[in-house]
Amino acid sequence: SWGSLSDKNVYEWSSEEEEPDGRARPIQVLLVKDDHTFELDEAALSRILLSEEVRDREVVAISVAGAFRKGKSFLMDFMLRYMYNHSSENWLGDASEPLTGFSWRGGSERETTGIQIWSEVFLVDKPDGRKVAVLLMDTQGTFDSQSTLRDSATVFALSTMISSMQVYNISQNVQEDDLQHLQLFTEYGRLAMEETFLKPFQSLIFLVRDWSFPYEFPYGQEGGMKFLEKRLKISENQHEELQNVRKHIHSCFTNINCFLMPHPGLKVATNPHFDGRIKEIDGEFINNLKVLVPWILSPRNIDVKEINGSNITCRGLLEYFKAYIKIYQG
Ligand code: GDP
Ligand code: MG
Repeated sequence: SWGSLSDKNVYEWSSEEEEPDGRARPIQVLLVKDDHTFELDEAALSRILLSEEVRDREVVAISVAGAFRKGKSFLMDFMLRYMYNHSSENWLGDASEPLTGFSWRGGSERETTGIQIWSEVFLVDKPDGRKVAVLLMDTQGTFDSQSTLRDSATVFALSTMISSMQVYNISQNVQEDDLQHLQLFTEYGRLAMEETFLKPFQSLIFLVRDWSFPYEFPYGQEGGMKFLEKRLKISENQHEELQNVRKHIHSCFTNINCFLMPHPGLKVATNPHFDGRIKEIDGEFINNLKVLVPWILSPRNIDVKEINGSNITCRGLLEYFKAYIKIYQG
């Protein structure tokens, strides 16, 4: 249902659980239907998280969330490339290779709202000797009306609750409504979680796409943090509402970070025939991608999912997923 024939990088299988040729692919585990009810594909999720090699491994869950058509799936596919190339120096590979994985595409038409996970869970050796399981999650939200905002808020909340790192993908700047949305999403999530003295969520990265003021705050993480500090600063002469949004965000996450990404160039943004090959992407974007992806995914940097102070395995994550979903189905 997520692919149309015109998509260039879409897999042709239906949403059957079988993988006909054994190739990994995105699996729609959560779907928000037109009547705003949620459907969890528990069988598919179990097949992935309970497979023998991963079920008792501690899990690192990386999610990307935010409004649609802002390059989330495109970024996710570079993360997949990094994982498949075993975090090697040359993980970006051949400059003429089309980008595949999660479906990404141009156009402005509506699409589904929900969560897809990559069917292959990656086993990674951390420098401290632990072998952990890495799960990649792509979310889809529309944010285009009041009713879909509610759906998207639930998807955002769920993906934040079950991930160890949420990448909040936003366009051009951190606007006040981006912060308000974030407050709404995390409020949904917080209500659903048990009372705890610990912060309910783990790590958040504000990923600003098409950043166009590098002369004020340079691209990357350092510029991002300086920029975010300024945006999230609480001051007394601020309206109370603005202060509250900021306090709330600080109170929810253990770690908050920011990364400023340059524009990828006109081919990426506007050419319907662009297939994702690196040689048609702006060099500045690629340079920052080479920093961003290992910053999120290198064996040294990945953090295991914790809930109430305990490390969670794939098996445990499945139980939490099911429990959290019940709250929203009620
Ligand atoms: P998603 O809905 O957020 O998952 O967005 P997609 O990954 O499907 O990408 C939507 C469109 O944006 C595609 O045509 C991409 O080529 C393009 N795109 C990807 N990354 C960027 C970016 O950083 N900036 C801009 N302007 N376009 C991008
Ligand atoms: Mg997408």
